[in-house]
Amino acid sequence: MTARIIDGNALSAKLRGELAAKAAELTAKGTQPCLAVILVGGDPASAVYVRNKVAGCEKAGIRSLKFEYAQDTAPADVLGKIAELNADPSVHGILVQLPLPKHFDEKAVLEAISVEKDVDGFHAENVGRLSQGQEAFIPCTPNGVMEMLKSIETPLRGAEAVVIGRSNIVGKPMAMLLTAAGATVTVCHSGTRDLNFHTRRADILVAAIGKPKFVTGDMVRPGAVVIDVGINRLPDGKLCGDVDFESAKDVAGAITPVPGGVGPMTITMLLANTVESASRAARKA
Ligand code: NDP
Repeated sequence: MTARIIDGNALSAKLRGELAAKAAELTAKGTQPCLAVILVGGDPASAVYVRNKVAGCEKAGIRSLKFEYAQDTAPADVLGKIAELNADPSVHGILVQLPLPKHFDEKAVLEAISVEKDVDGFHAENVGRLSQGQEAFIPCTPNGVMEMLKSIETPLRGAEAVVIGRSNIVGKPMAMLLTAAGATVTVCHSGTRDLNFHTRRADILVAAIGKPKFVTGDMVRPGAVVIDVGINRLPDGKLCGDVDFESAKDVAGAITPVPGGVGPMTITMLLANTVESASRAARKA
């Protein structure tokens, strides 16, 4: 069996078309959605992510503002900029690209962003709202995964879902969203005793580990939906996921590729949150 490929580029293109239409409608009524992005330091991967986010905004008719700071910038300067952007009614989303340099208190920076503009969904209040099923900005990567599952009509109610990874930005919110959708969710991590036991019984397997080609075909239940969140750079410069695509595709029922899978969906959901924030602001105006 060869798995169906869940094409993140194609799904993103469709959703971004819909978002561009919504952004144009809001702009015509006087509220152009606007995302402010803050980048601290010269990490090349972060610079690429920011560039892609800004380009995604432009294509969708979303205004973007980019603020770049040197590696040794004082945290107070960045906090000051966040306060300024919080108070600016023309800005609907604020994103601080992670990771921040070591002398920053990452949690304090994320908490400084207004909950109404936290389009990454990392603020503790948004996380709490999400866990209680209240209206919240949902973190972009797991939200994108949910859209991908929806696009192939994956049955979620009663499904066995296994998430490998328990980070705040991927694993934990992924588990919350799958639980809310009715799946029975197991969260695995570096301390999990028998990982294969869990992965082999998953109807839906999400890998968010940060280790190239870690999940091999023998760990996958035949017919399972395999979602590869990982983005790893190999010594030859090529990108690969946390799943060994070659062996897993022969066992899985559906699988996301890397690149061209979850990655583009993450940016799409960021644009979606920004447009949603703008439309909430327009309703309040
Ligand atoms: P983290 O490093 O924060 O978390 C990795 C998780 O994997 C941890 O919970 C860790 O367990 C677990 N883990 C590590 N080794 C093992 C193991 N041997 N067995 C089982 N679990 C293990 O990573 P992120 O969640 O931030 O990112 C994960 C991957 O997703 C990375 O490749 C990252 O680049 C990618 N990513 C992709 C995005 C996209 O847009 N596609 C967006 C964000 C991330 P423990 O908690 O015990 O340490």
